[in-house]
Amino acid sequence: MAESPINFNKRNFSSLFLSKKPLIEQGLRLYNKNKQKAAILKWHSALKQIQKRNDKFILLGYLYHAYVGFGKYRQSLEFAHNQLTIAEEMDSPNLRAEAYLNLAKTHERMGNLEKALSYARHSLYNECDHCRTAGLVQITVGSLHLELATFCKALQAFQQAHTIAQRIQDRSLELQVPLLVFYEFSQVYMCLSELFGRLQDIDKSAMYASKAYNLCRTLHVNELNSRYHRAALLQMAITLRKQGEFGDAHDYCSEASRLALVSGDQPCYTKSIRIMGDIYRKKMEIGNAYRQYESAMNSAFSMGDRLCQIEAMDGAAKCLEILRIQQKICNCRPLEFNNKLLETANKVGAKLLMRTTRIRLCKICQSLGDVEQMTEHEKKIQQLEEELEMVCGSCNIPFGFESDSLEVLPCTHILHARCVYEILRRKDQKKKRTCPDCEKIITSKLYLHGNDSPHNSVSNIFNSSTALEASSFV
Ligand SMILES: [Zn+2]
Ligand SMILES: [Zn+2]
Repeated sequence: MAESPINFNKRNFSSLFLSKKPLIEQGLRLYNKNKQKAAILKWHSALKQIQKRNDKFILLGYLYHAYVGFGKYRQSLEFAHNQLTIAEEMDSPNLRAEAYLNLAKTHERMGNLEKALSYARHSLYNECDHCRTAGLVQITVGSLHLELATFCKALQAFQQAHTIAQRIQDRSLELQVPLLVFYEFSQVYMCLSELFGRLQDIDKSAMYASKAYNLCRTLHVNELNSRYHRAALLQMAITLRKQGEFGDAHDYCSEASRLALVSGDQPCYTKSIRIMGDIYRKKMEIGNAYRQYESAMNSAFSMGDRLCQIEAMDGAAKCLEILRIQQKICNCRPLEFNNKLLETANKVGAKLLMRTTRIRLCKICQSLGDVEQMTEHEKKIQQLEEELEMVCGSCNIPFGFESDSLEVLPCTHILHARCVYEILRRKDQKKKRTCPDCEKIITSKLYLHGNDSPHNSVSNIFNSSTALEASSFV
């Protein structure tokens, strides 16, 4: 999920390269005109000529981001590794932090979540120029925990990223707010929308999606074709679909799809066809839905994007389940397919998905009369639910498995919204307003939402021309 902005902008770039690197300049101009392939060719030729290690590091970063944008993760990994080698040679903690961040992000997409987490930790450890990559690393850490279904840790990381972004914004009011801040805010909102979506709080998911989308829309028209705009469109499509607004969901999704095709953004395109599959499935157009999932699965597989792959597989498994219940197909294919999905989800460590897959398998085994397998699945489901720790500390009833309204406390513990309000209403001095999980005092100001949003200030700053200048490369 976490996409980081390109950590460099024209301003940094010019100061580092002066005017002696025409090939790189030309590449940058081409890239900004959506001519990514031509830009990459220029940069590859530049790579052969460059001597200075610092210059080479930055150029490798350009190539890394360009390849990630195309969904060519294996190649981008090579660039990140080369960056790390240079960072080691120069013994520069800041460069190391950036190289580790790039490694973490690619491994995340490839579904190597533990490895990605370890790279992210290395990045944080090396970070010394505060705020430069720290916010981006926290977003990556958060989205890794989101995939691993360790939601409290995800919320902690997003909270930190939000704080870092706010700090930069506050500190640089009279100077120029880096575009980074804007990306960090919109990324945090997008991740929170995804998190609440997975926990089935549809209203909160929709609220954060709109926040991210509105933030993107406040930018100048040049930014409209950025990958953040596309990602925000998709997040809107996801929440609109969950709210049953299929027409609008379809429009947002097709727009993202169209823009992704124009820019050669394969990851976004693949995600958009998967989401289109979800829309068709909810409209009970199962044949159409299945075809979308199939093509998303193939595309994700060829990119090596395992996260996208399991999401598409989950959609396809849901289609098969509908057909099985309607008795249009027998149990064999769903059984085989769900087992394959379980294996892949297991490799990734996506526990929430492992649970839903086992629930489907349990039903299939029941219909096959395979009691032994059924009990085995039931046992594993219970085990998974215990590991997921998705239980409200106040009423001891699980949350997140069914659609419900949730609330996050500042300590990042998640409770039912009604349980939180009940605690907040306590007037009795003896019954303190504390978090039932960690006993920290609860103030009425809950997790980062409400009216403390940075929208206004950020949008004002980004309407200024200086910010636009700095944002030329996304
Ligand atoms: Zn509760
Ligand atoms: Zn707590």
